[in-house]
Amino acid sequence: VMDSQKTTTHTTCPYCGVGCGVSVRGGGSQRRPIIDATSDHPANQGRLCSKGSQLSATLEDRPRLLTPMVNHQPVTWDSALDSVTEAIRDCVDNYGPNSVAFYLSGQLLTEDYYVANKLMKGFIGSANVDTNSRLCMSSAVAAYKRAFGSDSVPTCYEDVELTDLLVVVGSNMAWTHPVLYQRIEAARVKRPELKVVVIDPRATATASQADMHLALKPGTDGYLFTGLLTYLHEQGLADDEFIANHTKGFREALKQARYSVVEVAQLCQLPEHQVRDFYERFITENSVVSLYSMGINQSNSGTDKCNAIINAHLASGKIGKPGSGPFSITGQPNAMGGREVGGLANMLAAHMDFSDEHCSRVGAFWEATNMARQPGLKALDMIDAIEQGKIRFIWIMGTNPALSLPDSQRVKKALSQCNTVVVSDCIANTETTALANILLPATTWGEKNGTVTNSERRISRQRPFRTAPGEAKHDWWAICEIAKRLGHQSAFSYSHPSTIFDEHARLTAYDNNGQRDLDLSGLVGLTQQAYDELTPIQWPVNAEHPNGCSRLFTDHQFFTPDRKANFVPVSPKLPELSGENEPLVLNTGRSRDQWHTRTRTGLASKLNSHERWPTIYLNPDDATTLSVTSGQLVILENQRARAFGFAEVDSAQLHGSVFLSMHWHDQVASRSGCNALTDFISDPHSGQPQFKQTRVSCKPA
Ligand code: SF4
Repeated sequence: VMDSQKTTTHTTCPYCGVGCGVSVRGGGSQRRPIIDATSDHPANQGRLCSKGSQLSATLEDRPRLLTPMVNHQPVTWDSALDSVTEAIRDCVDNYGPNSVAFYLSGQLLTEDYYVANKLMKGFIGSANVDTNSRLCMSSAVAAYKRAFGSDSVPTCYEDVELTDLLVVVGSNMAWTHPVLYQRIEAARVKRPELKVVVIDPRATATASQADMHLALKPGTDGYLFTGLLTYLHEQGLADDEFIANHTKGFREALKQARYSVVEVAQLCQLPEHQVRDFYERFITENSVVSLYSMGINQSNSGTDKCNAIINAHLASGKIGKPGSGPFSITGQPNAMGGREVGGLANMLAAHMDFSDEHCSRVGAFWEATNMARQPGLKALDMIDAIEQGKIRFIWIMGTNPALSLPDSQRVKKALSQCNTVVVSDCIANTETTALANILLPATTWGEKNGTVTNSERRISRQRPFRTAPGEAKHDWWAICEIAKRLGHQSAFSYSHPSTIFDEHARLTAYDNNGQRDLDLSGLVGLTQQAYDELTPIQWPVNAEHPNGCSRLFTDHQFFTPDRKANFVPVSPKLPELSGENEPLVLNTGRSRDQWHTRTRTGLASKLNSHERWPTIYLNPDDATTLSVTSGQLVILENQRARAFGFAEVDSAQLHGSVFLSMHWHDQVASRSGCNALTDFISDPHSGQPQFKQTRVSCKPA
């Protein structure tokens, strides 16, 4: 909201799923506005991390895409939109709706996502809409749906402060979700009884501050949590009353996989006493939050791992009360908002799915002319379908899959063979824009206007404070213009993002009757002014929770037909590692001060100073074997590709594994980035790629 002098705008940081509020002074034409933390935003309460505090420095000097282009020639918007429309129509007429696909991004706002899904699933007649959020949290979504009948994050940030035991699994949150981590640090000062266990193969910054660090063998977390379920049962310490009254499937889950402490210790390569100590802490503490992210999700068995964690919370009754519950934290600023409106190919809008009932309900609400009735293709399946000539048109918005999908050389080849690749982006020169036939210049943070939802279900406004350069336009506008050209004028005649948000809110309430978790009935009918002034609020927002709801399942009623939570039988498995001659396992992830493929954070000199070049972290024993020393240029290699980086010998790195962050790309030192090496393997339930483990060899360059 701008103040009376129009000098301060309150908006939301775009760099991670914590969703911090920031205040911008001197927007408009000022090149470097002053950007501070908003003191009263509930997510950050006045805090910022290194990326947030450098937001101003990442605004300028970007090689912006300023003009629509068709076949590398600048054209008018009218002409570009006509070309996109013609390509969609041609595909649908000749090859059917499923020859068309959209690939979206957790950087888009909920309003952009909503209209993209509506066009594809309600009017083109395909569900081929997926998003880079598939790479981030789709395993967590699949697990929540299996356990609770809904994609419901039960917990909130306050819970990680209130808990007695915080279990951080597969997340270096001190770097990746820094402000939430700062809140934990502050809570530990106030409440020294708050203990932290970190489960991670690397001795990360987060692990170094923990009361206990379990440096397990990469990819074995599923065994650890399945063993916890066995232990709870065998020690007679399960919450029998909770299990009997509010869950089902406990016996089946136990039967599927039973692991003793001794077996778990062997499988995870952990000392037996450490496994037992962790189990005892989990059971004896009054409250436990298990907080997890990519280390769990980005796996060939990510969904099962998430369910193994949820099973342990259900068996101990540690859910639905302050300071307790499983808590997946999202990477992107709007990974959650995207899934709320159907951003994943296997979901419909408003957290509905592809049952006949839900398809009919959404179709009726939209007055859809060609409602999709089957789930669409997930991200990696889309690439397969392009290779097979089944998808002939893809519209990529706000993301760089030629660098960020696994086996990126294969992805580049597929995109280069696709008949029509449309890319909407704010940046002119990414690996993906280079492959586009049609480029559409998009607005970006500071120019866009809409909402995002953070990791704790909190809807916050992103507000504009500067005018878009060149001919950049909002994504929702471009999608609606295409929809109108395809003949759907009345369904896509939105005058402002507030009207899209209102329709989204009405759909969540439509024929709901308390059956669905996502309910924004309390936000229906917001005027444009009320939307502009909307303060951060956690869904559901309805008659029962007019001011939002921080914690779900306090009544132990879940969203399954019988309102009971499901234990899910899981079968832990090891990562799938192709290649025989590569002796090391590559672990990929984030560095502290960069975001995704560095198109924005790479512009800030302060952020670049933390990791100046691609850095390959090696265990000292491995470095000795390979005759590699710190600072030496080395090559990671496997059957797919090579990636270059400078060695950093680091005892925090587990023997037999190397780490390279995901941010580096062609134009820097690393020829092809880490995803040229990663395997095209995904979880069978969620379709989330296994980014965390890939076989490589390493040698001096
Ligand atoms: Fe931005 Fe995330 Fe840092 Fe908050 S923690 S300031 S949302 S990058």
